[in-house]
Amino acid sequence: MVNKVINYKARLILDSRGFPSVRVDLKLNNGIVVGSNAPSGASTGAHEALERRDGGSFWCGKGVDDVLNDLNNNIIPEILNIDPREQGRVDEILLQLDGTAQKSKLGANCLLPLSMAICRAGAVIENQELFQWISCLSESKSSLPIPTMNVLNGGAHANNNLDVQEFMIVPWLAGDFLNSLRAGVEIYHELKSTINNKQMSTSLGDEGGFAPDLKSNLAALDLLDESISNSRYSLGENVFLALDVASSELFKDKYYEWEGSSVAFQDLVDIYADWTSRYPIVSIEDGMDESHDEAWLLLNEILGKKINIVGDDLLVTQVKKINHAIENNLCNTLLVKLNQVGTVTETIDAIKKVRLAGWDWSVSHRSGETEDDFIADLAVGTGSRFIKTGAPARGERTSKYNRLIAIASDHKDLKFKNIGVRFR
Ligand code: PEP
Ligand code: MG
Repeated sequence: MVNKVINYKARLILDSRGFPSVRVDLKLNNGIVVGSNAPSGASTGAHEALERRDGGSFWCGKGVDDVLNDLNNNIIPEILNIDPREQGRVDEILLQLDGTAQKSKLGANCLLPLSMAICRAGAVIENQELFQWISCLSESKSSLPIPTMNVLNGGAHANNNLDVQEFMIVPWLAGDFLNSLRAGVEIYHELKSTINNKQMSTSLGDEGGFAPDLKSNLAALDLLDESISNSRYSLGENVFLALDVASSELFKDKYYEWEGSSVAFQDLVDIYADWTSRYPIVSIEDGMDESHDEAWLLLNEILGKKINIVGDDLLVTQVKKINHAIENNLCNTLLVKLNQVGTVTETIDAIKKVRLAGWDWSVSHRSGETEDDFIADLAVGTGSRFIKTGAPARGERTSKYNRLIAIASDHKDLKFKNIGVRFR
């Protein structure tokens, strides 16, 4: 039997911030329907694949009618006769139809939900779980990723006074994903009580973490320390910390706007070095601006042997940027975001590139998410050491954790990633 898509529909959905997004559903000739949704960032990298929006006043300018028209009338019909297991061929056609460096003609929010839906279709046809199919496509050994849970939100994801965008807890109870997840959840609730006891706000930021005003960025780490001490877990033993500074948002005229002053990159490196000496921080993401190579090099030289220096805006999940970072020793870890590049194949190519270089990678959500849990399977299927998918709260974040729970409980043979000796 020829495997193909016999019916389809691209439609508007809402994302977690209440803005329009795009869903693509594909009906296969075995009667099964698969679908996937596009996520959307707020602290976006200058070089990431672009979203296409209608503009105007409807939907606050963020409508996706043009994208839906294109998908339904021009794009999906182009790939109908291809076996969905030919992911590379489908994605190549999508790239040709777009033909621009930054996906500006069709938009990443047009290409990606289709590319992901095709991947889901391939898995169904192969009679595999999505992660198993992704493991074949990426020639990887599947494993369970370590959760990095963004429990204190700042920067562009909250309206509090924290410069740093994400303060994450990294629960790691050796050998066991589910126990680690449980630890993360318990600490999240302990943190809520600690904040409540201080009579501060427990309102949530975009990724489900708390967003109180604090007297400094370091005070956020102290708050996590206090909450973890109130729990049954131990910082540095079975729970670690991670940061996403998202510092491109703070970069103005060669300096970083930090706690009300302009700070030079050398001073920022000193601040990070101080923090990593006080606390068991396993990774710092976007510690420097995406265009500031000199600063990345210094940061990587000073801290890269001890912790993961993660490139998000710096690398935008694109092989060209990754090559530049490898050649110039700018960082040692890739943050993987499908919509920064626009197709599943290009995302897997980025992962293969860093794997060859001996780097780590961490599969990530966006701040504007949907209930689509694709990234959970992407993390497992590519054997990612970490997954970054927000706090263990709010449906668009818990959908990923819940998928991981299902995979972990159904596949006892899957190994939980090791946190790496250099952090312990
Ligand atoms: C991030 O910066 O890593 C992030 C998830 O935020 P956004 O989706 O806003 O880029
Ligand atoms: Mg980031």
